[in-house]
Amino acid sequence: MNIEKLKKTAQNFGTPLYVYDLSIIDKQLDKIKQGFNTLNNYQLFFAAKALSNISILKYMNNLGLGLDAASIEEVKTGIKCGFDKNKILFTPNGIDLSEIKEAMSFGVKINLDSMESLQDFSDSYPNQSISIRINPDVLAGANENVSVGHVKSKFGIPEEQIYDVLKMEEEGKIKVTGLHIHTGSDIIENNHFEVGIRKIFFHAYRFKNIETIDLGGGIKIPYFEGDTETNLKKYAEVINEEVLRFNLKTKKNIRLIFEPGKFLVSDSGYLITKVNYVKKSSHYTLVQLNSGFNHLIRPTLYKSYHEIINLSNPDDEKFEYSVVGYMCEKDTFAESRMISRISKDDIICIKNSGAYGFSMASNYNSRLKPTEVCIIGNKFKIIREREKFEDLFRGQIDIFKD
Ligand SMILES: *Cc1c(COP(=O)(O)O)cnc(C)c1O
Repeated sequence: MNIEKLKKTAQNFGTPLYVYDLSIIDKQLDKIKQGFNTLNNYQLFFAAKALSNISILKYMNNLGLGLDAASIEEVKTGIKCGFDKNKILFTPNGIDLSEIKEAMSFGVKINLDSMESLQDFSDSYPNQSISIRINPDVLAGANENVSVGHVKSKFGIPEEQIYDVLKMEEEGKIKVTGLHIHTGSDIIENNHFEVGIRKIFFHAYRFKNIETIDLGGGIKIPYFEGDTETNLKKYAEVINEEVLRFNLKTKKNIRLIFEPGKFLVSDSGYLITKVNYVKKSSHYTLVQLNSGFNHLIRPTLYKSYHEIINLSNPDDEKFEYSVVGYMCEKDTFAESRMISRISKDDIICIKNSGAYGFSMASNYNSRLKPTEVCIIGNKFKIIREREKFEDLFRGQIDIFKD
């Protein structure tokens, strides 16, 4: 982390702002490639919802990655950014057939996630290739908000309905060429991954047209010195064991797909803010930032940990602070955190803000969204203008205007 460089972005572009260091995306991609170097047939699709600025998406495309889209809008954004249709995956949840039809018209790949939508799909596209998302009934992920693979989760076709899917295939109604699982974000325990992997391969043997197995995202990164992270080598080992057995038994060469979001971009992003006041009472010392959960909702929504650095005074003695936002609502970034001495007007950096940061930002409290800047080589480049007051009213209709 280059403190001087980050401080400079605050001087050049004002606060609050998001900064993305593209070299860190490269580094993370290399880590995946290293970790997966025993896998010989796999593709990476960046999960667009983590960070969907078009300059970042184009950068991912240039790195050779595909795109995993969570909505038809992300599919269209991918097309706009020049991704080949073969490199766009549409993994929606609970959507109407009309979106599926639109995605089909673009020729992108789709992961369907319920029997109901599969039936609709087969009525419109009998016996066409389709990939399905299975709910493997694994409770994985950092907390219940990001754990999406357990039996009561709304995601995926429940395992108990796989026989119905197989029956549809026997009857010539569908042709399942891919199976997909995504069990959650920030998966710490390799054995959670393992259960999911074993299960999806177990099911795969029964689908005679299968070509791809998609293992989703969820690779955990460390949020602080000494924090846990997914062991990619071990993850790949389990996968490889299954792949080798599968290929041997079926005489296929199954293609693997991964959909990393957070792993690629979390570390690359920083939310840079300014201290409005250090507010003191006998109960607390509050650092009040010129930002809030309108800009970074993860600490509020998921209780997620983000390291906080005082860029203006990084090496001074540490004191205990609670760092809060300016929303008229509870928006704590960090509670009782040791940070080097903070004063009014200091520039504060919230780390690990690249994933699910700006992409989850809102205009709550009628606050404006921050600007986004990337560091590319030795240059800073603006990739999104700071919102303007007028932008708040775009699309609104004033019926009382005279
Ligand atoms: C959100 C999501 C991902 C990315 O998850 P990360 O935890 O950011 O890696 C991948 N696949 C699907 C289907 C998702 O919904």
